[in-house]
Amino acid sequence: MEASPVPETETLWDVVIIGGGPAGATAALYLARANLKTLVIDKGLTAGALGITSRIANYPGILEEISGAELLQRMRQQAQRFNAVFVQDKVQAVELEGDPKLIFANAGTYSARAVIIATGAMGRKQRIKGEEELLGHGVSYCATCDGAFFRDQDVAVAGNTDEAVEEAIFLTRFARRVHFFCPTPALKAPEHLVEELLAQPNVSLYLGAAVVEIIGKEHVEAVRVALRGEGVITVPVSGAFIYLQGNVPITDFLGGQLPLTETGCLSVDAEFRTALPGVYAVGDVLCNHVKQAVVAAAEGAIAAMAVEKALRGRKQLAVDWSK
Ligand SMILES: Cc1cc2nc3c(=O)[nH]c(=O)nc-3n(C[C@H](O)[C@H](O)[C@H](O)COP(=O)(O)OP(=O)(O)OC[C@H]3O[C@@H](n4cnc5c(N)ncnc54)[C@H](O)[C@@H]3O)c2cc1C
Repeated sequence: MEASPVPETETLWDVVIIGGGPAGATAALYLARANLKTLVIDKGLTAGALGITSRIANYPGILEEISGAELLQRMRQQAQRFNAVFVQDKVQAVELEGDPKLIFANAGTYSARAVIIATGAMGRKQRIKGEEELLGHGVSYCATCDGAFFRDQDVAVAGNTDEAVEEAIFLTRFARRVHFFCPTPALKAPEHLVEELLAQPNVSLYLGAAVVEIIGKEHVEAVRVALRGEGVITVPVSGAFIYLQGNVPITDFLGGQLPLTETGCLSVDAEFRTALPGVYAVGDVLCNHVKQAVVAAAEGAIAAMAVEKALRGRKQLAVDWSK
């Protein structure tokens, strides 16, 4: 993503949107155009469903076949034109009950009067063998947070998105060697990032390589990796950074603050309000019956208008969020 300069964490944002896919980027466009101070926090252009889509042929108004990442980039640029700010970061936790609401990302904490959750449904349920047991003991989801602990040691990175590539590049500053295991035949990150990764002298890239087990008694000692058509290898490492995707709604950062349906989805009313005042949710994170970019974008627009109505009301009189 063409991220804006890193925003001041002390700023009180009118709205923070978590996730910059079609749902979040469209909400940002409408909010910024309505002159609300809008921040979008997104972990990577190719980390979401639209970002990994190789060709989009059914988005209204787009005649040429373009990649999902390119369409998304255009949506983000359009919102940026109206002064929406985009930052590339991963939200790890939130405090949604108070006012302002707090959003804790890897690089800082942000506060906002309202929050829109638009994190999509590319989360994982199935963990790698050993991942859960060794979490915090060498297994990590955040190189920015934990990379420095692995100075002069060998580490593994598993993933294929720009988030994974950027985190691996960050790790090359500390680690002796970064073993990058990409489960697909090619990386899905933008070319300039892939080039930057391959230019690092201490990176080994394995394509078509699925990490099947993380081994260690008290700390990570090695990973076992299935190489397409070549069997399984064991690679000694002290850290394993995991950036893999699945197909479940991404709600782990909510820490149980919002009720989930039996299938792990968020519930909202017709204006996309969740059970907590000032907190909205849009897009695939709702497990919509029809998962399409145009549907996610439309939901972002409706939620943005509901947020705008509520926040503008609050400037003049105390808002009753229940209405
Ligand atoms: C392979 C594939 C092909 C598809 N093809 C089409 C198609 O041809 N046409 C069509 O209309 N639709 C298609 N879809 C569906 C469409 O892409 C989705 O319905 C749509 O992208 C959902 O939008 P969203 O904004 O809700 O989620 P996403 O597009 O998944 O965006 C979510 C965003 O949230 C960010 N995020 C997640 N967690 C965090 C976090 N903790 N912190 C910060 N950011 C976070 C991610 O980086 C991501 O950018 C396809 C989907 C897939 C998977």
